[in-house]
Amino acid sequence: MSEPSDRGTWPTGRTRVAGLIGYPARYSLSPALHGAAYRALGVDIAYVVFPVTPQHVGSSVEAVRALELVGVSVTLPHKEAVIPFLDQVSPEASRLRAVNCISREGKRLLGYNTDGSGFVRSLREESQFEPTGCRAIVIGAGGAARSVIGALADEEADEIVIVNRSLERAQQAVNLAPHVARVGSASDIEHADIVINATPVGMEGSRAGELPISIDGVHEKQLVVDLIYHPSETAFLQQCSQRGARTTNGLGMLVYQAAAQVELWTGMRPPIDVMRAAVAL
Ligand code: NAP
Repeated sequence: MSEPSDRGTWPTGRTRVAGLIGYPARYSLSPALHGAAYRALGVDIAYVVFPVTPQHVGSSVEAVRALELVGVSVTLPHKEAVIPFLDQVSPEASRLRAVNCISREGKRLLGYNTDGSGFVRSLREESQFEPTGCRAIVIGAGGAARSVIGALADEEADEIVIVNRSLERAQQAVNLAPHVARVGSASDIEHADIVINATPVGMEGSRAGELPISIDGVHEKQLVVDLIYHPSETAFLQQCSQRGARTTNGLGMLVYQAAAQVELWTGMRPPIDVMRAAVAL
C-alpha cells in the first residue's frame, strides 16, 4: 500500500474510505484517532468527516452501502436516527437505542455501540479499576450515562446509583439495568467505589467552579471519572482530587471507543498509546 503520509501518491485507487456522520462534526477528534490507528497498523483507510443534517440521515447511511465505505462512526444528533436504516443492530446498541458505529459487511450494514465497552476497557487498562462487583454512582442520565450504566451492568457491578437533575430520566436509565440500578442522591456518594460525571457540567463555557452535584461524600478510596475531556481537568475532578480521590477524565473512553471501531472494521487491535498521543491535550 502507499504511505498515507506521502501526500503525493495518497490516496490511491485502492484506498478505502471510512468516516464520521454527525452535525456539526467539524471539531471531532475522531479523524486524528482513526488516522493514527490506520497509519500505525499500515492499513490503507482514509477517515473523513461527513457533516450530515438530520434530513439526510437515511441517504447518508445508504451511501455507506452504495459507495462501499468501510463503515462510519455516528455522532450527535444521529445515533438513534440511523437505526431504522440498518440491517442489524447489536444488543448493546439496541438496548441503548443508540448506534455510534456502522460496519459494512458486503451489502449488510451492522450497527454497534462501542462507548460502554470503551469506558470499561479504559477503567481496566488505564485506571486499573475492576468494575465487576463495584458500587458506582453515575451522575447524569443522557446518552453517555446510559452507555456507562449498560456497560457496568454487563460487567456485573454490584450497585449502580443514578443521580440526575430530571427524576423521570433517571428512572428511565434505571430501567436499563433494574436488577442493579436505582435512583439516588448526592448522599449516596460516600458508599461508592467509583463516581462518574456524565453531565456536561464543567465543559468549556460552564460557570467557573460549577459542580454537577455536591461532592461532600467523596474520599480517598474512590476513583472519580469525568467523561468530559475538554478541559482536561474540570472543577469537579480538581475538587475530588483535593479530597484525596484518584481522578481521570474522559479521554480514555474516547480513545478506547474509537479503538473498538477500528477493530470492528479491520479485525486488528490498534496501538492505544499511538492513538492517545494523537489527541494529547
Ligand atoms: P445528554 O444526552 O444531553 O445528557 C446530559 C445529561 O446531563 C442529562 O442527564 C442532563 O440532565 C444532565 N445535565 C445537563 N445539564 C445539567 C446541569 N446544568 N446540571 C445537572 N445536570 C445536567 O449528553 P451526553 O451525550 O450524555 O453527554 C454528557 C457528557 O459526556 C458531555 O460532557 C459529553 O462531552 C461527555 N461525553 C464524553 C464521551 C467520551 O468519550 N469521553 C462520550 C460521550 C459523551 P436532564 O436529564 O435533567 O436534562
